[in-house]
Formats: sequence, C-alpha cells, structure tokens
Amino acid sequence: MPTFLSENEHGLWMTEDERENLKIDYRIKEIIVEAKSTLQHVMILDSYSFGRMLVLDGAVQTTSLDGHIYNETISHVPLSIHPNPKKVLIIGGGDCGVAKEVCKYSSVEQIDVVEIDPMVVEVCLKHLPEVSGGLADPRVNFIFDDGVNYVQNSPTKYDIVIVDSSDPIGPAEVLIEKSFYRSIFNALEEDGLMVCQSQSPIFHGEVMEQIFERVHDIFPKTKMFTAVVPTYPGGLWSFTLGSKGYVIPNEARMKELDALYVNEQIMASCFSLPEFMNKQLSKYR
Ligand code: SAM
Repeated sequence: MPTFLSENEHGLWMTEDERENLKIDYRIKEIIVEAKSTLQHVMILDSYSFGRMLVLDGAVQTTSLDGHIYNETISHVPLSIHPNPKKVLIIGGGDCGVAKEVCKYSSVEQIDVVEIDPMVVEVCLKHLPEVSGGLADPRVNFIFDDGVNYVQNSPTKYDIVIVDSSDPIGPAEVLIEKSFYRSIFNALEEDGLMVCQSQSPIFHGEVMEQIFERVHDIFPKTKMFTAVVPTYPGGLWSFTLGSKGYVIPNEARMKELDALYVNEQIMASCFSLPEFMNKQLSKYR
C-alpha cells in the first residue's frame, strides 16, 4: 500500500502531507484507481466527505464536492473578461474540469489542453465524471507534453491561456518560472490574457507573491483574485491574471454565466482582496 494510505480501527485513510506540522487525513470508502505513471503516483479515491477525488503524489488535486469552485473561478473569470475568446490554451488541467467549463462558451472554437501525463486524463474521464463531465467536445484537443516545451514553440496564438497546474513541485515546478510566463506572453494575441493558480495566500504567501511579481514584470496589467476551495490547505486560494489589455469583467458575458459557484456578484467581488494581501502586493501597484 502506498505511503499516503493507511488503515486503522476506523477504516482506510489517505493522508495529505502538507508540511512537517500539518497533515490532512481523508477517510476513504474505496480505492478506485491506484497506479504509477511514468511521472507520478495517481489515485482516484472515493472519500466519505469529499466524494471521489484525484490524488497525485499524495496531494489532493480536485474533488467531486468542491472541484467546481476552483474550475469555474479559473475559467469564467478570464472568459468573462475577454469580449470574444476563440482560442483557449489550458496548461495542465488533466482532470478536464477547466476544459469542461471553457466548452460552455459558444464563441470558443479551439481548446488545446497541454497535459504532461496522459494517465491523469484517462482515469479522470473514466472514473471522475463529477469533475471531467466525461468531456467529449470536438473543440478539445489533448496535447500530451510539458507545458513549458509547448508554449516555447506554440504553433497557435491564443486569446486566453489558463495555467491549471498542480503545486509547484515535481513536474509542475517549472510552471512558475518567469521564462514560462514570458513564453505565454508571446503565445498570446495582442489583446490576450493569462490566468494561473497562484497557491494559498495563507500557507504559500511567498510563492504566491513570487508568481504575482513574475507575471507583473511581464504583463502590462496584473490582478489577483481569490476563491475559497475547502479541499486546498487553508481554504482561501489565489489566482493571478496577467493581461495585455482587458481586466474588467464584461457585462454581457457575465450574463452568459452557466455555473454553480460563480455569478455576477462573485465576478465583481473576487478581485477584492483581504487587507493582508493588499499590503503584501502594494509594492507592485
Ligand atoms: N486544479 C488542481 C490544482 O489546483 O491543484 C490541478 C489540476 S490538474 C490535476 C494539474 C495537472 O498539471 C496534473 O494533471 C499534472 O499532471 C499536470 N502537470 C504538472 N506539471 C505539468 C507540466 N510541466 N506540463 C503540463 N502539465 C503538467
């Protein structure tokens, strides 16, 4: 049994080892998938409190209970800011939750998902329908490659790039490098915009600021927004927007929202930050 799983008199548990003094235990009903790809350990577990969940190298990536909060926030914010997005690139996103949200926009003609590990897509399409929605939209193209390699030589100019990466360790470590954000800038249309998940303001404040600073150094406009995702350590989660032009949600597009979590009020308020975050980012104003 992998080190992340253990059994005691109360049953089977998956322990997310957040840091030396913080471990998070999830009680598990059933192990649906437990495998090793060439890159990482992959599990789909059915948990008592969060339903089915994707776990990579012992870290919970997304769950049936709250995956939609993160997936809707990271996709509907940029898609409601750009007035007419046609080509969207998703880096990472192997659980297909973000691509499922992007498919809701009729203006979008092409959705390229650059995921480094095909096993993640395979197991999520098959065993995590609450998140992946069994994605089968003809506009979606899976490209199994390292996101860094792809954007360096992107064959396409995109209107929106969404970096839906796992924590910046292992294969995702390169997805917070400044050179990566510069490649994204070059892969965007003249009025394009990028959003990336930028970790926990509570537990990963330094990495969050590092990401914001790197994006801020490259894009003419940079904004941070948040959502509360119960699965992620500390709940409060940050997203960084880098834009060549647009930054204000478009009224008309916000009316098109088809979502469980985001709505016009959320879209208007998610850029309002807690005071500690404003203070931390004030030097970049
Ligand atoms: N929403 C989740 C979160 O916030 O943690 C993550 C979604 S998705 C599961 C993250 C994906 O990024 C994983 O499938 C992982 O394989 C992929 N990934 C990690 N490093 C990558 C890289 N360098 N290029 C492309 N995909 C990568």
